Amino acid sequence: MTFLPDQWRPQPNMLAEKTLLITGAGDGIGKAAALSFARHGAEVLLLGRTEAKLEAVYDTIIAEGGAVPGIIPTDLAKVSHDDLIALAGELANSIPKLDGLLHNASILGDRKPLAQTSAALWHQIMQVNVNAAFMLTQALLPMLEQAPLASVVFTSSGVGRQGRAFWGGYAVSKFATEGLMQVLADELGETSNIRVNSLNPGAVNTAMRRTAYPAEPPQTNPSPEALMQHWLFLMSDDSRNINGEALSAQS
Ligand code: NDP
Repeated sequence: MTFLPDQWRPQPNMLAEKTLLITGAGDGIGKAAALSFARHGAEVLLLGRTEAKLEAVYDTIIAEGGAVPGIIPTDLAKVSHDDLIALAGELANSIPKLDGLLHNASILGDRKPLAQTSAALWHQIMQVNVNAAFMLTQALLPMLEQAPLASVVFTSSGVGRQGRAFWGGYAVSKFATEGLMQVLADELGETSNIRVNSLNPGAVNTAMRRTAYPAEPPQTNPSPEALMQHWLFLMSDDSRNINGEALSAQS
C-alpha cells in the first residue's frame, strides 16, 4: 500500500529553498533521488565514496540548470565521529540550515548463513549501514534544527522488518536502522521541527539488487526513477505530519 495521498503529484518547484543531503548519491537509488530533488528545486549535497560518480551527478544537475550541488567524498566505512563533526562544522560555515537528510548508502555484504559470516564483514556492514548513519545524524542535528521543517529518511529493507535466512548482517543492520528511526522519531516528534521515518524501497533495479539476485532478469524490477515520487513526498512539506513511520515504496 502506498503512503502517498490520493492524487498526490510532485509540484515542479516544491523543494525550492531546501538543502538536502543524500548519502550514497553516486549510484542507484541515491543518484536518482539526488537528481530528482534537484529537478524539483533543491540544493543537494552529494555524499558518497566514489568521487567520479558524484562528479557525474553534479555535471548532470548543472547541465539541467539545477542549483549548484555540493560534493562530499566520504567513505562511510572509514569515517570517524570526529570526521563527521568536522564535516558538519564546515557545512554550517557555508549554509544556514539543512532541510533534509536521506540515509541511503548501504552495503550488502555476503549472502551467507550466519554460521559462515565473517566478523570483520559484519562490523563493516554495521559501520556503513548503522554507525555512520547514527554519527552523521547526530552531527547534523543542529543544522536540521535550523530549518523550518526538516525530514530525516532512513532507508530500510524488507529483510529489516522480517528476518530472512542468508541475509546476515545486512538484515540485522536494517532492523537497527528501524530502531534508530523509532528512537529518534520519538525523541524529536513532539519537541522539534524534525520528522524521522524509514522507507523500504522494495525491489529496485540497481547494482545492489543485481548482486543479490544474479539470476533475476534486471527488468523484473522498477528503475529507481520510476519510484521517486515517494522520496519527493517525504522530503516535501506535504509529509510534515508523518513521523516515526516504517513506510514502503512498493506493496
Ligand atoms: P547501490 O549499491 O546501487 O548504491 C549504493 C550507494 O551507496 C552507492 O552510491 C555506493 O557508492 C554508496 N556506498 C556504499 N558504501 C559506501 C560507503 N562506504 N561510503 C559511502 N557511500 C557508500 O544500492 P541501491 O541503490 O540499491 O540501495 C540504496 C539503498 O536502498 C540501500 O540502503 C539499500 O539497502 C536499500 N534497498 C535497496 C533495494 C533494492 O532492491 N535496490 C531493496 C531494499 C533496500 P559507490 O557507488 O561508490 O559504491
